[in-house]
Amino acid sequence: MPVDYREIPYHLVADNLDRYGQLDRRERVFSLYATLGCPYNCSFCSSPALYRDTERRYQLVPPEEVVDHIDYLHRRYGATYIYVIDDDSFVDPGHISAILDGIEARGLKIRLGFRGARIDEVLRMDDALLSRLARAGTTILHIGAESGSQRMLDLMRKNITVDDILAANRKLARHPEITAAYNWLIGLPGETLDDLAATRELILRILEENPAAIVFPPNKYRPLPGTELFAVAVAHGYRPPARLEEWIEVEVEGDYTPTWYPPGFAAMVNMMQVAAYFIDAKLFTYSLGSGAKSLLIRLAGYLYRPLARFRYRHGLAGLLIEYRLYRRFVAGFRAGLREQE
Ligand code: SF4
Repeated sequence: MPVDYREIPYHLVADNLDRYGQLDRRERVFSLYATLGCPYNCSFCSSPALYRDTERRYQLVPPEEVVDHIDYLHRRYGATYIYVIDDDSFVDPGHISAILDGIEARGLKIRLGFRGARIDEVLRMDDALLSRLARAGTTILHIGAESGSQRMLDLMRKNITVDDILAANRKLARHPEITAAYNWLIGLPGETLDDLAATRELILRILEENPAAIVFPPNKYRPLPGTELFAVAVAHGYRPPARLEEWIEVEVEGDYTPTWYPPGFAAMVNMMQVAAYFIDAKLFTYSLGSGAKSLLIRLAGYLYRPLARFRYRHGLAGLLIEYRLYRRFVAGFRAGLREQE
């Protein structure tokens, strides 16, 4: 069971939330779990690997306790926004409904974001539940779309089709108060440039059919020990880091190129990552602050967006000076974090 929320030392972060990667500067964002684990078996994911041998791979935190926790964060620490950082919050729609009931009954004026939702779960949700989520203050759902290639979706054991992704997106377009935010995973063993082209095509189509949607920069696949795909990666020549420190470069922003990338693949992955920051409305969805820096970022985003889309549409990964700037930005960001430590 989770630790008692009253024992979580929130006071250590409450006075300086700015240092903890707040997505939106207007909000005081706190995170919590409403569920633990995940019952699905995606072959790349750490969740089944972590919970495989436990008695219960998926547990619901009692709805009253979740609502008490939200109430506590709101009253005691001034939380205005709660990020529910579950692996998957929507396995049991009744559980979410009970949490929404509690929020409504107590008149809690907070906004909500959910980090874990599957495409098939969105397809099963009815419009009434989505409207209730919006009424309770939900502004974003993170959804694992992962790929526009059916071959890759099958390799990941997502149990969804590309058409399912499009259908879920069309449903979410009917609820524009909730931003549909899609996650992607690219660079799996055996993935080809054609698979990447299918993902780019799907991303553009999603934005065309739901202009309010946002797409997160595709994650580079990293083999995680204990996952089903780890053995596949090893069979493709992967050698896991020998020392703990070496895992830093395997992290999301690490400069990591697996042995199995075919020619031209790494450049395409880099292009897809950097262009994704600008391809949609995400720079305009969140408050980045009010200074000259945020204005400049927005202006750069506005000017670069047509080029980002052109690169996606035509698979143009050459002359990628943007990527060098991006690497410099990441290096500067990491150095800044080290200085704060
Ligand atoms: S990717 Fe999401 S749905 Fe799949 S196993 Fe991991 S947490 Fe569960």
